[in-house]
Amino acid sequence: MGGSSAHARSSGRAEVGSRIGTRELTSQTNLVPFIARWSGERNLPMPVVARGGQWTGIAYADRRAFDRDANGVLWVRAVSRQGMGRPEYGKVHSQRQRLCMERLLCQICGGPADRTAEGTLWLIDAHARSLLLMGEITTHPPVCLPCAHRSVRACPHLRPEWVALRVRTAIPYGVNGILYQPADPAPVTVTAADVPFHSARIPWVLASQLIMRISDFTVVNLEELQP
Ligand SMILES: [Zn+2]
Repeated sequence: MGGSSAHARSSGRAEVGSRIGTRELTSQTNLVPFIARWSGERNLPMPVVARGGQWTGIAYADRRAFDRDANGVLWVRAVSRQGMGRPEYGKVHSQRQRLCMERLLCQICGGPADRTAEGTLWLIDAHARSLLLMGEITTHPPVCLPCAHRSVRACPHLRPEWVALRVRTAIPYGVNGILYQPADPAPVTVTAADVPFHSARIPWVLASQLIMRISDFTVVNLEELQP
C-alpha cells in the first residue's frame, strides 16, 4: 500500500520510468489488507556478504535455496506471522506482495483479482493516471471486485480520485529494495531503489517488493462493474 518505507524514490528514475500507485485503500475500513505487514512480522536482521567472496553481488552468509527468485535476485527474509500484533498499514509484507503480483491476487483479501476478457482489475490513484502513457510500473497489486467496491464505498470522498483499469498485460519488471555496493570487509547499503531485472545493478539489490510493468489497459467505470 502507499507510504511504504521501501518506497523511496528511485535514484534511476529515467531508467525505470514513472511509478504509479494506489492510495491507501482500506485503512479507513477496518480491513487489514492482505499485503500489509503486522508488527509481529518485522524482518530479522540478516548479515549480507559478498557473493562467493567475490565482488559480483550480495548473498546471505547462511544461504538457503529459497533466498533467491527465478531471476537470481536476493530477497529479504520476511517473517510470516499474519495477524500477529498490530497491522502496520504503511508497511508491505514482501512475500505476500510478491505472491499477489506473481499470481495476480487481490492485494486486500488475497483472493484472485477480478479478471475478464478485458483484463485484470487495478485501482490506481487518478493523480497517477496522467503518467500512464505507453505503460508504467507499479508495486501495487490488483484487486478483486468486492474489495474495489468496498474500498471506494468506505471513502466516498476519495471516489473521484480513483481510476479503475482493466489491464491486459502485466509483466514482472524488476524489484524495489535496498541497493548495496562493494566494500571491504562486507558490502554496504547505498539507497532504496527500483531496479529492473535487466539492470547491471540487480546482483547488488536486496529485494523487498516485486515491480510489475502494466500496459495495454482500458479505463473502466467501477460503478458499472457489479460483483
Ligand atoms: Zn479482494
